[in-house]
Parts: sequence; C-alpha cells; structure tokens
Amino acid sequence: MSIRKKLEAVKGDITKLAVDAIVNAANTSLLGGGGVDGAIHRAAGPNLVHECRLLGGCKTGDAKITGGYRLPAKYIIHTVGPVWNGGKHNEPALLRSCYAHSFELAQSKGLRSIAFPAISCGIYRYPLEAAVAIALDETVAALRRGGSLERVCFVGFETRVHEAYVRAINALAID
Ligand code: ADP
Repeated sequence: MSIRKKLEAVKGDITKLAVDAIVNAANTSLLGGGGVDGAIHRAAGPNLVHECRLLGGCKTGDAKITGGYRLPAKYIIHTVGPVWNGGKHNEPALLRSCYAHSFELAQSKGLRSIAFPAISCGIYRYPLEAAVAIALDETVAALRRGGSLERVCFVGFETRVHEAYVRAINALAID
C-alpha cells in the first residue's frame, strides 16, 4: 500500500476512534490534565490513572503506553509535547521526538492503526502549521522504515486543525 493511502485526516473526538492506539498529548506527570488529556482520562475511566501512576511520569519528547480501558482503542500512547516558548528552546526537535517515540512503541507492539491529536497545539501553543509539518514528516519517515502500521489518523477536533491536516496531506510530495 502506498504511504499516502495510509494517511487520513479525521475531524472530531479522538476518544471515539476504534484504532489500535490513540496518542495522548499528556503532561509530564501522566496523571491527567486539560484538553485532549482530560477527555481521554474521562472516556477511559478511572483505571487509566491507576496504571499511569505506576509509570513514574514521562519526559518531554518521550512516550509511554497503557491500556485503553473503556475506550474503543486498545492502547493509549502518552507523549509529552514541548510548551512553545518562541521556538529557540528545542521545541521542534522535542515535538519530532514525540512522534518518533510514539511510532517506535506502535511498531514494537505490531499495531496496525494509530491516531494522533495535534500534540502541543492547544494549551502548549505550538504554531499549528509548523506542528503539522513535523507530524507529517516524522510519519512519512516512520512509514518508510516499514513495519505493521497500515493507517495513521490525524485528528482535528477544531475545524482549523482538521483543515490544516487536509491541506498538508494533499501537499505531500509522495505516492
Ligand atoms: P497540548 O497541551 O499538548 O497543547 P491540548 O490538549 O491542549 O494539548 O491540545 C492539543 C490539541 O488537541 C488541540 O488542537 C485541541 O483542540 C485538541 N483536542 C482537544 N480535545 C480533543 C479531543 N477530544 N480529540 C481530539 N483532539 C482534541
């Protein structure tokens, strides 16, 4: 299957997706927060935070995996994006690292489908177009390395985020 056919821009709520794993834009405590993190913890139910407590937090740019509990998704990959602080504090490399580590975990579990929210683009204020470009670039690189993934969804909860993914996927110079 071509790489382009594996990419999908999805509008809506990531907690509703029946994929092998959804990615959570978590914070370093991994104990829940606002935005998509809060929505995922509410939808997964209270047992999620019990498993998260055992993980001992997560560094910015890293990722950890848990069960999906009450979600339709089997797993949750929790990654911590950088807070945007002007762009000269290693933010692009850290955001890239979130995607790279999420793909490493997904491939190591042999997952076939994964869905990402716009990591860092909410409370952490990362500029949307720049973040979308990094997301797609890392995704194409991961899919080129091969492995189990057949479907990568980019979930835009807000219309402007969804439209940014659609535009960026259409503009990709790949098959
Ligand atoms: P961060 O702290 O990494 O910026 P946020 O959760 O504040 O994370 O925002 C990341 C993105 O997730 C934002 O674009 C926000 O609109 C979006 N978002 C919020 N709730 C959901 C949801 N239920 N499903 C998908 N995306 C969501």
